[in-house]
Amino acid sequence: MRVAISRCLLGQPVRYDGGSKPVPEVMSLAGKVDVCPVCPEGAAGLPVPRPPAEQREGRVFLSDGRDVTAEFAHGSDACRDLALRSRVSLAVLKAKSPSCGVNLIYDGTYSGTLTAGDGTLAARLKKEGICVVTEDVVKACKPSVENPVAIVLGTGLGHLGS
Ligand code: SF4
Repeated sequence: MRVAISRCLLGQPVRYDGGSKPVPEVMSLAGKVDVCPVCPEGAAGLPVPRPPAEQREGRVFLSDGRDVTAEFAHGSDACRDLALRSRVSLAVLKAKSPSCGVNLIYDGTYSGTLTAGDGTLAARLKKEGICVVTEDVVKACKPSVENPVAIVLGTGLGHLGS
């Protein structure tokens, strides 16, 4: 089974602040599947470090006010195409991110407030019918050594093949 995973969740220092967000449960999962690493903001050519970004009214802005909607679209298109070429059946993406967030993202006020919505890559993968979850789902499932994928898919997403 091939799984797209946000690069920052794999410990790669690609976040806007030059850091990463490694999650042990995701790293464990990554050791048991074929990983397709994705980072739409990196694929967009945005530098590290960079100001943080948030979505607002259907567009994406850096905290310094720069409109990076086109860059996010370009990077997310590239990662979607990679995921499709790689035939991933699951994506584990970083929660709340303007590009990777699933169902919940920051609201564009840079105040830590969340609102309903998908990151630019998450929305594209959903549109292609790919199952998309955040690291929080993987943590909640506590994937076992024996069959981590089955447990992740057991969250009501078991209709997907392996
Ligand atoms: Fe992580 Fe996604 Fe942001 Fe890249 S774009 S740093 S993978 S949350």
